[in-house]
Amino acid sequence: AKDAGRNTFLDFVPEMNDMALKRLTLSNELRQALPRRELLLHYQPQVALDDGRLIGVEALLRWQHPEWGMISPAEFIPVAEESGLIEAIGAWVIEEACQQAVAWDQLGLPELSMSINCSTRQFLEPQALLDTVRTALRRSGLPPARLELEITETLIVQDIAKTQWLLEQFRALGVRIAIDDFGTGYSSLYYLKRLPIDKLKIDQSFVRDLVANPDDRTIAATVATLGHSLGLRVIAEGVETAEQLQILETMQCDEGQGYLWSRPLPAGQFIAWYRGTYGA
Ligand code: C2E
Ligand code: CA
Ligand code: CA
Ligand code: CA
Repeated sequence: AKDAGRNTFLDFVPEMNDMALKRLTLSNELRQALPRRELLLHYQPQVALDDGRLIGVEALLRWQHPEWGMISPAEFIPVAEESGLIEAIGAWVIEEACQQAVAWDQLGLPELSMSINCSTRQFLEPQALLDTVRTALRRSGLPPARLELEITETLIVQDIAKTQWLLEQFRALGVRIAIDDFGTGYSSLYYLKRLPIDKLKIDQSFVRDLVANPDDRTIAATVATLGHSLGLRVIAEGVETAEQLQILETMQCDEGQGYLWSRPLPAGQFIAWYRGTYGA
């Protein structure tokens, strides 16, 4: 399994039938991942649909395990949350992503916004998360308005009062907030009106069958209209084809992200992609 492109932990050590033991092994390895420098970020472009310019990137976490290969965040983030490792890993992500954004400024890229995924667990310690973000901004010198935190509806509803407090702190700081996977959780007009939110991200499950499925088209169009009428920007994720893009354009969707432009790339390849695409 060592040379396979992307393994899942369950493919590995198939002799381990005990699920609990697998998770324990995974969390033990994950504990070492930061000090061993096995974690890295890939970056995926976010593009304006009106003129195609590059607006920002989303940082997506990767774990390059020496034996198991590349492990998907969908697999190890839940383990990191359960084992209390998510705070340290999340702090590393924020620090690393802010440093990267400033490094690209110095290489002459346009001033990109940096989107970072936040886990539910990180929001349970609001003061710690706020301190982490403040420290990363100060150390890197990244202007707060270029940092965007992606949060989910599930995270919002776990404790709406706490979420509101934290989002107001971020708003005061100048950091922006996007609702990730919008429409797949407990979408509520109440929180959309009440919380300081800047952007809605149309979930890729609605983008996937945009061409063939009229219901998905209706949902995507409704999200776009709702977002705009509340003064929010709207981005579609998981855009893979020109046909999907065309439909999203008719909905006045502001931005797109997906394989149509690029897969998430390591920092060095991202620069090469930028120069190749924009001739700069
Ligand atoms: P997400 O935030 O919804 O990220 C979008 C996922 O869709 C990413 O998967 C991305 O690689 C993938 N994707 C992008 N464009 C396309 C496309 O055109 N088609 C398809 N089919 N997929 C596309 P990835 O990188 O495996 O990340 C999975 C999830 O792991 C993320 O979902 C996010 O919830 C979580 N995650 C990733 N990085 C972090 C992190 O630093 N912290 C936390 N807490 N969670 C993270
Ligand atoms: Ca995301
Ligand atoms: Ca998403
Ligand atoms: Ca998702």
